[in-house]
Amino acid sequence: MTESQSFTFKAETKQLLNILIHSLYQDREVFLRELLSNASDALNRLRFEMLTNAEVLDPRAELCIRLSADKENHRLVIEDTGLGMTREEIIEHLGTIAQSGARKFIEAAKNQQSDFSQVIGQFGVGFYSVFMVAESVRVSSRSFKQEAEPVSWFATGEDHFEVGAAEMSTRGTRIEIQLKEDAWEFADEYRLKAIIRKHSDYIGFPIYLGEEPQPVNKQASLWRTSRQSVTEEQYQDFYRTLTLDFESPLLHLHTQTDAPVQLYALLYIPGKGERGVFSLRKEDGLKLYSRNILIDEYNKALLPEHFRFVQGVVDSEDLPLNVSRETVQSSGLMPKLRKVLAGQVMKELESLAKNEAEKYATFWQEFGGYLKQGIAANPSETEGLKPLLRFKTNLRPESWTGLDDYLGRIPDGQKVIYYIVGDAPASVLRSPHLEYFHAQGTEVLLLTDPLDAFMLMGLRSYKDYPLENVAQADLPPASSPDSSPESSRLADEDFTTLVTQFKEVLGERVSGVRASQRLSQSVARLVDPEGAPNPEMQRVYKYLGEEFEAPKKILELNPGHVMLKDLITLEPGSDLQHLIIEQIYESALLVEGLHPDPSSMVERVQQIMAAALENRASRPGSS
Ligand code: ADP
Ligand code: MG
Repeated sequence: MTESQSFTFKAETKQLLNILIHSLYQDREVFLRELLSNASDALNRLRFEMLTNAEVLDPRAELCIRLSADKENHRLVIEDTGLGMTREEIIEHLGTIAQSGARKFIEAAKNQQSDFSQVIGQFGVGFYSVFMVAESVRVSSRSFKQEAEPVSWFATGEDHFEVGAAEMSTRGTRIEIQLKEDAWEFADEYRLKAIIRKHSDYIGFPIYLGEEPQPVNKQASLWRTSRQSVTEEQYQDFYRTLTLDFESPLLHLHTQTDAPVQLYALLYIPGKGERGVFSLRKEDGLKLYSRNILIDEYNKALLPEHFRFVQGVVDSEDLPLNVSRETVQSSGLMPKLRKVLAGQVMKELESLAKNEAEKYATFWQEFGGYLKQGIAANPSETEGLKPLLRFKTNLRPESWTGLDDYLGRIPDGQKVIYYIVGDAPASVLRSPHLEYFHAQGTEVLLLTDPLDAFMLMGLRSYKDYPLENVAQADLPPASSPDSSPESSRLADEDFTTLVTQFKEVLGERVSGVRASQRLSQSVARLVDPEGAPNPEMQRVYKYLGEEFEAPKKILELNPGHVMLKDLITLEPGSDLQHLIIEQIYESALLVEGLHPDPSSMVERVQQIMAAALENRASRPGSS
């Protein structure tokens, strides 16, 4: 027999132990989940070994986990009949292996406000969580390898551990925990039962507690467990284990169907659109199982692109067992699974939109972009997404409006859905294109997200109502476009003179200058000439960074605007007239979001201010 030998923990492991022992974690019970999950891993690996290896020790031993609690002596023992560890393995796995996971956990725990112990298992250092509750721990193990000697490992959470011989007649691992005084509760069978049901119910091997002949756990994976018997907490727990996302999911969707395909699915819509820094999900896609066996970690074919933010697990009895990932992808089953799953997600979102507007608004804020992309990329297959779209409008800039809400509010004669594109809600609300519509009380969708321009490519109409851009909308002149007094309207010949002067000053920069019947507040606006790509297409080109020269615009002037009436009185060709024409044009560029260099206007604005002040100073007595 070998003598007991002392080893030092790796530096990062020491640090980790220090944190676990001294932090005041509330959820210390997760240590049990970690130990049970290790036992389950060991059992799984043994089962796998037995498929190919006839030489396994104790081949007939039941694959199970046993817990026994000694309340009087404050001890807890966890045993499994898994593959066990050899002396070398125990030294390496429980102490000397370099733990990048430990380092990451330490970093993450430092930056994270919430109770980080809950997710320690995700860092590959779950075993050490036992030191949240243990004064000392002894691990005895006997490997499935016939020739291996039983081995024992002992530590108190200080910087070293002892390895020596053990008495063990059967295969597997036994973990004996001497509980710290403040953790004596974990030697109570009721408490243990509750923890197992909460965190480890779906471990696939029986967990026996004390002398009871019935296992404590259900042994079914959570997604295969019937909805009625899963608690909200278990759903949340599972989500956290799956994603390491600290934000609670917005909703979960648990389905089991038999036709047209057999499937179990447990899907989640995360709380946030951005994956967290610590997220375990490195790619989009769902986990695909076939009868409880994982065959694809990130399966992207199970849901359409526009639902790729959905996380979760799908399991189907209909998938051929032991198939490679490639055969899964090409089997005719995938489209069927996808249809069912997409339909379920769709139904869930529709009901959320209908019944829980506030929650839906959160969904829309976080994930609306995916739906817009879906409509842009695949208009023919995303008809169903249109009712899920939400918009700000000129009449309701603070809340979200759906297309059905919009149609429900329009007056009888209106045959189109109006929208305006721009950079931000506040700036489009000031757009001269909106003036006419605003004055008429017509509702206009405000499309100010860069994705909106793309979406419009696939959203040309809704329920037979075409969508029309107010900058282009072909409308009869407003009944009273001119809110200014009749006296301020320019005489026709004056207006013609002014147009000539504008053309002279602006030259090649505009393709024309003309009167507008649509303006009431603004002095001018820019519109596209006939045949130009529409404003949203121009934006698409801009976002795609394509070589694209925006078509020269037409400057439309408001003949009723008092400023033009004063402008005509200035000496033709004077500096001030020139400055003002330039500024009218550049202001119009600015509200259109097209000004290449707004700060370049400052100098001109100063010159105009100086002229205004000079004018006042030369008229003493005026106030
Ligand atoms: P992880 O489970 O993520 O690998 P842990 O810290 O929980 O990280 O466990 C470290 C390693 O210790 C495991 O990978 C395994 O090799 C070994 N181990 C822990 N518990 C057992 C057990 N009950 N039976 C066999 N090996 C175990
Ligand atoms: Mg583990």
